[in-house]
Amino acid sequence: MVSRVIPVDPFDLVIFGGTGDLARRKILPGLYRRYYDGQMPEEARIIGAARSEMDADGFRDFVRGALDEFVTKRHDKKMVDAFLAKLDYVAVDAKGTGGWDALAKTMRDGVVKAYYFSVGPALFGDIADRLHEHGITDDDARIVVEKPFGHNLETARALNATLAAHFDETQIYRIDHYLGKETVQNLMAVRFGNMLFEPLWNAQYVDHIQITVSETVGVGGRGEYYDKSGAMRDMVQNHLMQLLCLTAMEPPSRYDPDAVRDEKLKVIRALETTGHDDIVRGQYKSREESYLEDVDNPGSITESFIAMKVRIANWRWNGTPFYLRTGKRMKERVSEIVVRFKEPPHSIFEEDTGQSANELTIRLQPNEGMDLTVTIKEPGPGGMRLIDVPLDMTFAEALGEEAADVPDAYERLIMDVIRGNQTLFMRGDEVEAAWAWTDPIIEDWTRREDRPYPYEPGSTGPEEAMILMHRDRRRWRELRA
Ligand code: NAP
Repeated sequence: MVSRVIPVDPFDLVIFGGTGDLARRKILPGLYRRYYDGQMPEEARIIGAARSEMDADGFRDFVRGALDEFVTKRHDKKMVDAFLAKLDYVAVDAKGTGGWDALAKTMRDGVVKAYYFSVGPALFGDIADRLHEHGITDDDARIVVEKPFGHNLETARALNATLAAHFDETQIYRIDHYLGKETVQNLMAVRFGNMLFEPLWNAQYVDHIQITVSETVGVGGRGEYYDKSGAMRDMVQNHLMQLLCLTAMEPPSRYDPDAVRDEKLKVIRALETTGHDDIVRGQYKSREESYLEDVDNPGSITESFIAMKVRIANWRWNGTPFYLRTGKRMKERVSEIVVRFKEPPHSIFEEDTGQSANELTIRLQPNEGMDLTVTIKEPGPGGMRLIDVPLDMTFAEALGEEAADVPDAYERLIMDVIRGNQTLFMRGDEVEAAWAWTDPIIEDWTRREDRPYPYEPGSTGPEEAMILMHRDRRRWRELRA
């Protein structure tokens, strides 16, 4: 089963920061794969833009190196050469005037104009101003902006205002690459394309929901940035929040950008402020390795781990908590949503038969897929003993390797930009609402000068995160890759 690839309209895509890490690792390899799969029309062009002086051939050499390093499947010399022929480069300084006339001359009329701001947010305003001054935007032009979108509500509002000065909301594509993941979209397909789950998807039948995004890596070379941000700003405010919204939202009336985003916004606005007792923050620490050394800040109280219990104050979820956890230097790299259903109200079996509650797990990584545990009778003689077995749907197994070889989140999202489909991008009011929920929580622990609990690198986080669950007679799903 191979999905159909429909080419997008001809476009000029300018990547500001085209020589940066994100462009090298994700954006350019992703574009190559879309080209390889036939989704990019022959007239399409990709223009790198950064301060470094180089010509188009220099940029092509740079991109060839990136493809050699980051494209493993579908690496084909002829296709690579043909893809590189679509590239151009213009040296521009976002903060100066140099290069902008040349960029303006390069842009064509009659094609989709897309500008990817793959640079630090401090440059967003300058780039938006210059594009406007040089008359290279039109009502149909799109801009793509990267995380972090603000550091708090105030900065997010300022950023939104800066972009709104020259662009309509329908032209702004705020990337959260979690939304581009195949399984995240499948979450919507499963919820709204089947009769089976939606009637049970509420506080009457769901005991609780867990959302986990754990990483095995530490803060690596991003120490300085990360220490100013921490797990709450870097992961919860955006990625986990988006997963929570898609899990908790009401069915939108249509699969249409504003209908979906309206429902997500309602979820964020219905979140109760999480109190101090419902949050556990941690920092990895052992004799050999520690967060404090990695960020080179011995007094830091920034968290590299957070677990929290979140409540949504609405009819659907009243009484069903959502437990979120995310951390660095953990035991396994896992992103998953676990929907734990309630136990049957009455058991007709003897008490020690081993019956337990159904659990639906939506795995974003690794092994994208879903499994549902169901209770069955243990085969064989010896009376009625029950066991839980998974109905496992790993996409690679269920659909075949080829069909499961789906586009990476970035590829899908960039093609959505060209198509003009904003469904999987965050709207400005959503981002602001998420900060409005996050800010008081951070302010509270900052005022208290709370120190995060230490946890062993390679573990499941601090003991206190287990206690957060045990207190409610629940436990985290084991971290398994
Ligand atoms: P990076 O490696 O530091 O690259 C920055 C890019 O911006 C370079 O191409 C740089 O080239 C260019 N640049 C810097 N100042 C400029 C100026 N005044 N005018 C024009 N170009 C300028 O950063 P990155 O890691 O690619 O990140 C880019 C953005 O994506 C950031 O907002 C980051 O937070 C976000 N992001 C990155 C990742 C990731 O995995 N890397 C993930 C999520 C989000 P020159 O020095 O030649 O100008």
